Amino acid sequence: MTDRLTELKENLERVRRSIADACTTAGRSPDEVTLVAITKTFPLDDVRALAALGVTDVGENREQELKAKAPEAQDLDVTWHFVGQLQSKKARSVVRYADVVHSVDRLSLVTALSRAASSESRSIRCLLQVSLEEYGPGSAGGSRGGVEPGDVPALADAVAAAEGLELGGVMAVAPLGGDPAKAFDGLASVAARLRSDHPGADWISAGMSEDLEAAITRGATHVRLGRALLGTRPVLG
Ligand SMILES: *Cc1c(COP(=O)(O)O)cnc(C)c1O
Repeated sequence: MTDRLTELKENLERVRRSIADACTTAGRSPDEVTLVAITKTFPLDDVRALAALGVTDVGENREQELKAKAPEAQDLDVTWHFVGQLQSKKARSVVRYADVVHSVDRLSLVTALSRAASSESRSIRCLLQVSLEEYGPGSAGGSRGGVEPGDVPALADAVAAAEGLELGGVMAVAPLGGDPAKAFDGLASVAARLRSDHPGADWISAGMSEDLEAAITRGATHVRLGRALLGTRPVLG
């Protein structure tokens, strides 16, 4: 085993233990939580190594990186997630390579994704990225994107009605400098309301390396882990 494979294996074991511990605390089964490995800035070899270690879901936050890696990994049995802010003009490329888009936050993007998915004959699971800025310290952190909670129902209806798209649930990033527990409580209510309108939209993508436990105790079905799994990222511009 190479050093890197050993390192990833150990990280993965540690992360799986953290997920299992958080599930125990929350009285949930670890089967209810999918680990999405966020491989941004890391090479394709790491994606291959993670897949060999049993990781089934990987994610990228930039279209360029997704487009570079995913086609080279078609032999792997992994689901690709796109988790970054998305410009409408990049929708076609993302739809080609990603199976799930976590960052749907506006009507114009729904239109672009639907058009692209239809013409590529793809079906894309879409999560609505919800802004949790109201749980943050205000201007200090800056916006991390997302639709305001009050605008979720209308956006959800648009996705549910769009050709080529499937409404999957919600996604959020805890506000910088805020209490992730409070923010994820807020997300859980948004998710509950969404499920009452759209019962199949039951995914909650929340929790990163720093706030995994807070997310799992508040119902996260998908945790997006980068650094905890792959190590420190080089600083990018
Ligand atoms: C980078 C990224 C993650 C992973 O963050 P870590 O802190 O490295 O675990 C999760 N979600 C999104 C949207 C990201 O861009």
